[in-house]
Amino acid sequence: MSFRLTYATMYNPPEAMHERFEEAMKRVEAKAGARHPLFIDGADCDAAQYVERHAPFDRTLRLGSFALADATDAHAAMEAARAAYPAWRATSVAERARLVRRVGDLMEERVYDIAAALTLEVGKNRMEALGETQETVDFFHHYADDFESHAGYTNALPDDPIDGMASHNASVMRPYGVWVVIAPFNFPLALAGGPTAAALVTGNTVVLKGAGDTPWAGRLLADCIRDAGLPPGVFNYVSGAGRDVGEALVRHPHTAGITFTGSVPVGRQLMQQMTSGTYPRPCIAEMGGKNPCIVTEHADLDRAAAGIVRSAYGMGGQKCSALSRLYVHESVADALIERMQAQIAAIRVGDPRRREHWLGPVVNATAYASYGQYAEALRTGGAHLLSGGARLGEVEPTLANGYYVEPLLAEAPLSHPLWQHEMFVPILMLHRYQDRDEAMRLANDSPMGLTAGFFGSDDEVAWFHDHIEAGVTYANRPQGATTGAWPGYQPFGGWKGSGSTGKAIASFYYLAQYLREQSRTVV
Ligand code: GLU
Repeated sequence: MSFRLTYATMYNPPEAMHERFEEAMKRVEAKAGARHPLFIDGADCDAAQYVERHAPFDRTLRLGSFALADATDAHAAMEAARAAYPAWRATSVAERARLVRRVGDLMEERVYDIAAALTLEVGKNRMEALGETQETVDFFHHYADDFESHAGYTNALPDDPIDGMASHNASVMRPYGVWVVIAPFNFPLALAGGPTAAALVTGNTVVLKGAGDTPWAGRLLADCIRDAGLPPGVFNYVSGAGRDVGEALVRHPHTAGITFTGSVPVGRQLMQQMTSGTYPRPCIAEMGGKNPCIVTEHADLDRAAAGIVRSAYGMGGQKCSALSRLYVHESVADALIERMQAQIAAIRVGDPRRREHWLGPVVNATAYASYGQYAEALRTGGAHLLSGGARLGEVEPTLANGYYVEPLLAEAPLSHPLWQHEMFVPILMLHRYQDRDEAMRLANDSPMGLTAGFFGSDDEVAWFHDHIEAGVTYANRPQGATTGAWPGYQPFGGWKGSGSTGKAIASFYYLAQYLREQSRTVV
């Protein structure tokens, strides 16, 4: 049976998808333990240090030994990218698009093996892992198509004769130079691959830094880029600590622009660093969310419960798009809570390699510890825990080797400080409202504005769109109240403190951010 993975197949997977994933998992596990170097100037590159990494769902399962870059490696990667830039910039739009598309094709051929590695490294369930890998494939194809369809964003403009002399005018969009991509742990492939594809197709060369928790994903991306035949130095991969290798990249005089996905404090600091120096340089920063959902008395509660549970707890709440604040009309609150509790009770938590487990672990010991602290802060802060709250690694002997936690639903007083804090673990806070405008005021009472959900009547949707302060909105969507954007369908970008540019990933406006305009007048 032949099929292409799409967003829809993630919700209704054919049996063959499971079989292929399970075969791939066997292949990838058999290779676990290997050594993974950096990738600089078209070649594998050893680092002074290697780090042993283990699966977050089983701390005894060794994944491999991964090169830990330092400032010297960062410098070498920058030099390689700088040397490769003039020839890459001069490469035709068609050829760059062909090579970028080829990366997507190769990744698509390897989609099951790469997804299996993501499950092992991050603890995502198979649907999330396959979804992320296919999304990355689609980014490479989408940006190649987009750039070509805009003829590289070159526009001829009307002549303007002055004093009888013809003056020929054009606007040409040109790349910046070496683009640094800093990827997060939660989408270590998609949020590395998407910006990389955009920067490459527009003629920039790239240095990618992977997150400390997820060096494998970036290396698998590097393999696809190498095998697609991109010239040496056009793409370089380093992974290591932010304070070390990240700093070195950001401070490097040849860094022409940055795409960063991660926390608000780091994003803000990067933006400041990028505006200082000899002259300001562009910084595309995607910085998290504290995403709300409003449920009115006219909502279809089955749909609402499904969408809410999926978005609050999918991947353990470790998505920028995860739902964390729920405002529900008091007249339907009990009925909604009952439906949600039933769905939460049906969630199977455990080893994400297994088909029946929808929820794997959180990513590391820090996230595991903070879940405990947040649960405690909710209890002592006057919240009523309606579901969850335990760290399963401690109470369930079969889960003792992993960072497993329960999906937590808490009805919390509005004064609780966690209403304003991005937690990045599976915790959803709930408030019963009386008046729709009060709910909207609360939903917008955040310095963040990434995604937002709504369940209500069709007539209310326009009101929601008009008033909500968020870059990505979903109305009446059971497949995800605030999560699940797909390239080409839902442009993904934050307002307010969630994003630095107001232009969304994979939107019509995205690629232009990797280019600077040159107006050309020739008489
Ligand atoms: N694209 C993902 C979604 O729509 C979220 C990406 C993120 O968490 O940064 O759910």
